[in-house]
Amino acid sequence: MKLIDVAKDFSTEDACLAYLEKMRWPSGLACLKCGSVRVSAIATKDKRSKTRRIYQCLEQECRHQFTATTGTIFHDTHLPLQKWFLAIALICEAKKGISANQLKRHLGIQYRTAWHLAHRIRSAMLDGTNPLTGKVEVDETYIGAKVPRRHGPRKSRKEKDVVIGMVERGGKLRFVIAANAKRASLQPILEANISRAVQTIYTDEHPIYPWALMQEFKGKHKTICHKASYGIGDTHTNTVENAFSLLKRGLIGTFHKVSIKHLSRYLHEFEFRFNRRDEQEMLFLETLRNLLCGKKLAYKTLTAEA
Ligand SMILES: [Zn+2]
Repeated sequence: MKLIDVAKDFSTEDACLAYLEKMRWPSGLACLKCGSVRVSAIATKDKRSKTRRIYQCLEQECRHQFTATTGTIFHDTHLPLQKWFLAIALICEAKKGISANQLKRHLGIQYRTAWHLAHRIRSAMLDGTNPLTGKVEVDETYIGAKVPRRHGPRKSRKEKDVVIGMVERGGKLRFVIAANAKRASLQPILEANISRAVQTIYTDEHPIYPWALMQEFKGKHKTICHKASYGIGDTHTNTVENAFSLLKRGLIGTFHKVSIKHLSRYLHEFEFRFNRRDEQEMLFLETLRNLLCGKKLAYKTLTAEA
């Protein structure tokens, strides 16, 4: 969904709630506690004198009161739903990601709120982990802060985080953080994420790949030598390299630096967006749906994560 449509269609709390209701109860309202469809609406104003669409179960022994946000990530938030919806649209639309600072300015909220909001939305951008198949490109990249030479030695590759990118041509992209680029870390990652039925695996000439792939993917590996050419016919790693360049521009240009404890969430965000790059509407709806069904992610948990 485009930002402009989100701003127009969800300009009031009521419109957002009505939408969440439709998403949560596609075949009609039902009590969240006992499942009864004998439910009536109560127009009530809450502490902040906002009208909420509150419902009550009419079963004598239940009488449960609920709204579309009960038990969801949206329930205890002080943030109006319009701002949640706009934040989701902004994150979905930003190909290279959006920083908490930008979000703060766009939505007129505190930095801390924007940061927490972005991480909660990011954590809902999670794809499945089915093994990739067909034609799969694999590449690795190193992510970490660079230290200017005059201020000491450049951070060596060993100290940086290795991200393995795998993409099924015409299918999904997946990023996985590896401890290093050695066979012992690479091989289990490739075997866990690529189907044994894969047709071909394409990599560059990095000497680790023949070793890491020889056991499970013997005879299915093709290499492109980048010194000679960027691709010969079908043999190239352009798709995964494009994904990496988008990721790097995001990490460097938008977020400046990302601490390793949050890196996996940023990777998921990029994957999720990349995998729906031609489906703006799905991207927004799936993120919203995952937020509605997902677990809460407390600020304390986020800042304490190891
Ligand atoms: Zn009930």
